[in-house]
Amino acid sequence: MREVLILGGGTAGTMMVNKLSKALAPDKFNLTIVDKDETHYYQPGFLFIPFGIYKKEDVIKPKRKFFPKNVNVVVSEIDLIEPDKNSVKLSNGDVLSYDFLVIATGTEIRPDEIEGMTEELWYKSIFDFYTIDGALALENYLKKWDGGKLVLNIAEMPIKCPVAPLEFLFLADDYFKKIGIRDSVEIIFATPLDAAFTKPIAAAELGEFLDKKNINLVTEFNIGRVDNVEKKIVSWDEREVEFDLLVTIPTNMGIEAIERSGMGDELNFIPTNKHTLQSENWENIFVIGDATDLPSSKAGSVAHFESDILLENLISATKGEPLTARFDGHANCFIESGDGKGLLIDFNYETEPLPGKFPIPGIGPFSLLKETRMNHFGKVGFRWLYWNMLIKGRELPMESQMSMAGKYIPENQQKESKKLHL
Ligand SMILES: Cc1cc2nc3c(=O)[nH]c(=O)nc-3n(C[C@H](O)[C@H](O)[C@H](O)COP(=O)(O)OP(=O)(O)OC[C@H]3O[C@@H](n4cnc5c(N)ncnc54)[C@H](O)[C@@H]3O)c2cc1C
Repeated sequence: MREVLILGGGTAGTMMVNKLSKALAPDKFNLTIVDKDETHYYQPGFLFIPFGIYKKEDVIKPKRKFFPKNVNVVVSEIDLIEPDKNSVKLSNGDVLSYDFLVIATGTEIRPDEIEGMTEELWYKSIFDFYTIDGALALENYLKKWDGGKLVLNIAEMPIKCPVAPLEFLFLADDYFKKIGIRDSVEIIFATPLDAAFTKPIAAAELGEFLDKKNINLVTEFNIGRVDNVEKKIVSWDEREVEFDLLVTIPTNMGIEAIERSGMGDELNFIPTNKHTLQSENWENIFVIGDATDLPSSKAGSVAHFESDILLENLISATKGEPLTARFDGHANCFIESGDGKGLLIDFNYETEPLPGKFPIPGIGPFSLLKETRMNHFGKVGFRWLYWNMLIKGRELPMESQMSMAGKYIPENQQKESKKLHL
């Protein structure tokens, strides 16, 4: 029997365990999945909790409900990976050995990386919404808040779901309007980027949304510290932004066990071949989802597209065959824009988000890079799709590779797009 071990039973690990349990012959392979937690969190739902749209119950389910019956499930913290010994040490004292390893341990937020972030004001006037605790604490705070300066700050890139901060801002604008205090709230977005988003065409579009919603954009703001006394964030080049309420997207890092194991870069992300998803350093290790160092977005949709590629390549590896499946960096994200509307973006390593129709060219029903009510329904429907199809590893009517069908390059961007090799 050969051992296939999956580390992490979140979005990517759960998809992989379902796909592998169907694809690997049970008389030849033992499949084991390890996670520290019994609860699966639907992280895209964290966005809606501060505004009372989702409750905690809407975003949690038991992990075991999604693991197939024929796999070994181990609940323990991963302590150390020893890739040269093909083994993994767990905090419960067990040592698991493997022939093939899939790492799907995601990212965690590290507010402790920023001076002053976790001091007096943490969870009093400073909150995150990338964790369930942060999102719930912020919901409680917002219920009593009567206005002031709301600053949303991204500490550094990359972060998971890079559109989530923008969605938070759009929903905040909507929320304060609905409860009648928008005039008493100044909303500021302080980002290390030079625009609203990472990709130029989408950044221009999303920047207009910020203007329209009277949200002030502060660019190239690289946070150095939080001043808890004067309630301000200070950048490395000593620019200051005052706040009454700070919503932070702290540094996102791979887990500490990756650092302890000497397998990651400076942010603990694992060097991974951007096309085959094989580790750059060990042939029998594959990496998927947020744990990789790939230049793709860190998103559940990306993990989903990667899962098809990883399945094919891992099976080839078990047969000693070349890895022929290639991941193209495909990402697909609904962006909630407030007032019951949303946008959709679809892109990959080479092609940035473009306008058009998706998934059926010319028809849709979703519109790319355009605000529509149908896109909002897509965002809302994603939760059902996630619990019932995506993490169960079921086939979806979407190709892993991005398609140009249904997309077009806007006239005013054609010159620019030539520079971007579109
Ligand atoms: C606010 C927010 C909004 C988002 N919105 C979207 C969206 O709209 N669309 C989208 O596609 N994506 C979205 N995402 C991103 C998406 O949730 C992640 O990209 C996705 O979950 C990544 O999957 P993963 O398996 O790599 O990591 P995770 O799902 O985070 O899984 C990692 C797993 O590893 C386990 N683990 C970690 N450390 C250890 C350890 N030491 N020992 C044992 N187990 C460990 C964890 O318990 C977890 O189960 C959003 C994320 C956030 C936070």
